[in-house]
Amino acid sequence: MNIILLGPPGAGKGTQSARLVERHGMRQLSTGDMLRAAVKAQTPVGLKAKAVMDRGELVSDEIVSELIDAELAAMPAGQGAIFDGYPRTATQAEMLDALLEKHGRALDRVIELAVDEDALVDRITGRFTCARCGAGYHDRYRQPRQAGVCDECGSTEFKRRPDDNEETVRTRMQEYRAKTAPILPGYEARGIVRRVDGMASIDAVTAAIDAILA
Ligand code: ADP
Ligand code: ADP
Ligand code: ZN
Repeated sequence: MNIILLGPPGAGKGTQSARLVERHGMRQLSTGDMLRAAVKAQTPVGLKAKAVMDRGELVSDEIVSELIDAELAAMPAGQGAIFDGYPRTATQAEMLDALLEKHGRALDRVIELAVDEDALVDRITGRFTCARCGAGYHDRYRQPRQAGVCDECGSTEFKRRPDDNEETVRTRMQEYRAKTAPILPGYEARGIVRRVDGMASIDAVTAAIDAILA
């Protein structure tokens, strides 16, 4: 299975991808995570992307598609891919089709996480992750079981993204509306879109996705 998780910032793509990885042995291909790793390592791509990301704008289609290409090349043929945060423009959607063909894969489903925009700022400004293993949490919706200790790895260090502030989130939402949402009709025409209520609880969203993939 190769699937796209599509939804605005804060819709729950990363949270649900992590569960799909755990339950179905799929691989998460998050261009956001790849770009943040490049920024941290100060690679040429990272140096170029940092200011764009800090503003909440989109990095170039070529850069993100090259990252995806390299990941697909390194994956075992039998392992399913979850595209998280890619494609984000019509050009990226076309590039993904070409990359899938190049790597002998087909797109099975586009899962749209439908959310109420008003909830997104709240979700994003409360988001934090484990600094060691990357497990995702939220100030109100998903605290670690023991305060200050990661459920997954026991670390006591957490971090927040510099772009998870209200002003940048507004720009990111505008980018989503203007450039990403318009790619949905093309996938709808292929009959592969399934819509999930992203406002439901994290467990309920997981159950809905599992039902779609079953
Ligand atoms: P995305 O990858 O789409 O930007 P995340 O998966 O990082 O979104 O989720 C954003 C924040 O909202 C995280 O802090 C996460 O814990 C929380 N969250 C994710 N899904 C839900 C949900 N269904 N209900 C409440 N909070 C959620
Ligand atoms: P979120 O899921 O919260 O929207 P991501 O982690 O997916 O955030 O992306 C963070 C930032 O990285 C984006 O605001 C954008 O600057 C950049 N980025 C990630 N994926 C892409 C992409 N496919 N195309 C262009 N820019 C991207
Ligand atoms: Zn951890």
